[in-house]
Amino acid sequence: MKWGIVGGGVIGLTLALRLSSQGHDVTIFEGSSTIGGLARPWEQGEINWDRFYHVILLSDTYTRRVLRDIGVESELEWVETRTGLYAGGRLTSLSNAAEYLRLPVLNLFERFRLGLTIFYASKIRNWKKLEKIPVEQWLTSLSGAGTFNKLWRPLLRAKLGESWQETSAAFIWATIQRLYAARRTGLKKEMFGYLPGGYARAFTSFENRLDNMGVRLKTGKKIEEVRNKNSSFILRSTEGEEEFDRVVMTCSNSRIAQLCPQLNPAEQTLLKETPYQGIVCASLLLKKPLAEYYLTYLMDNDLPFTAVIEMTTLIDPKQVDGKALVYLPRYIDARDPFFRASDSEVEEFFLAGLEKMYSEFRRQDVEAFQVARETEVFPVPVLEYSKKIPPIRSRSIQGLYFVTSAQIVNGTLNVNDSIRIAENAVAVLLSDKENDT
Ligand SMILES: Cc1cc2nc3c(=O)[nH]c(=O)nc-3n(C[C@H](O)[C@H](O)[C@H](O)COP(=O)(O)OP(=O)(O)OC[C@H]3O[C@@H](n4cnc5c(N)ncnc54)[C@H](O)[C@@H]3O)c2cc1C
Repeated sequence: MKWGIVGGGVIGLTLALRLSSQGHDVTIFEGSSTIGGLARPWEQGEINWDRFYHVILLSDTYTRRVLRDIGVESELEWVETRTGLYAGGRLTSLSNAAEYLRLPVLNLFERFRLGLTIFYASKIRNWKKLEKIPVEQWLTSLSGAGTFNKLWRPLLRAKLGESWQETSAAFIWATIQRLYAARRTGLKKEMFGYLPGGYARAFTSFENRLDNMGVRLKTGKKIEEVRNKNSSFILRSTEGEEEFDRVVMTCSNSRIAQLCPQLNPAEQTLLKETPYQGIVCASLLLKKPLAEYYLTYLMDNDLPFTAVIEMTTLIDPKQVDGKALVYLPRYIDARDPFFRASDSEVEEFFLAGLEKMYSEFRRQDVEAFQVARETEVFPVPVLEYSKKIPPIRSRSIQGLYFVTSAQIVNGTLNVNDSIRIAENAVAVLLSDKENDT
């Protein structure tokens, strides 16, 4: 079977690894000049690191297995990190249970209910019923309106913008599950992992492994149309056409709808209707660190970004020339006008936010400031989301498959769940092959 895969992110690469190891002929088309998708690296001043911040959890078994298969898992470094909370103009530590119990924004009773909510959510296994409940309703009934307004609402808004109002309780459940899983793996501490060199290290290894297996990796080849002709497919890229027996799409739902005009109207509508959350994320190289927290949650509404991630509290600063590497994300709706703000406008806006938060911060300490933008990062987990996702097999075109992170129904967007989607899809792709022959 000759397989064409559209997209060279972790899903496309994992699929290629597995299909090729079963003896298939695989070609990946990646529109960008490098593989890696959301996890790909870029040059920041003198250094090369992930465009968006990434950590690996001890419990990320799917990620770790792929890293093992491409020969880099043993290079992972594990570090205990700290978390901060910025509320009412004050930065405090929120790194362990005792600090949670002293949470400054909540009174004693509210903290108690918050603890119970998190514990209760960590024990729930049947997430499907949570999909039917709006997140505000669920959290208010468990934690109370005070805690919802002071803590949960800012946290939800930080990740989902105003779309949090359409979100189901399954989203917060999945977030709590992921954080709990990280602690369940033996150690009760929050240990995060990274590869020296960043995800770029994994992608170099991936590239070499796939190359040795005979997979063709075509970067800078954006697919413009997928056309079904008899029992095969024509992939038209910027540089011509190629024929395949089977095609797997790994990009966003709306892009799939655009690239595959032969899909029937019902399938087109399903794909086009997925509402996506986007991101504008600055990455900064600073002469001095800001604080000691990997992640700082922000409770104050008047800040221009939705969290502060200080990567060099996790990675050895030697990895980035002894500088402090900081990310400032702002998760927003794909249609938000902030996507049209220029780099210098974003810089001005974000640096003013840092000045407000950190009295020691000085603009002259900024050595590099770069802005990454993506309009379609993950689908908003709306009520009954699992009923709204496209299945792996196209219903209207035989031999066309969708394997995308939009199929994560009981998790949040992360590399581990993306790889899980790819690994589980392989059986479906190959069972079809067996039925056909
Ligand atoms: C700010 C941020 C922080 C994150 N932090 C973490 C973290 O700490 N830990 C973690 O595990 N995960 C994290 N993630 C999530 C992680 O990056 C994703 O789960 C993962 O990269 C998704 O991979 P994918 O293959 O599904 O999609 P993508 O990475 O989006 O890959 C899809 C690929 O398809 C290509 N493509 C699209 N259209 C075409 C076309 N027409 N022709 C050819 N190619 C095309 C794109 O260029 C892209 O490379 C983070 C993501 C973001 C945005």
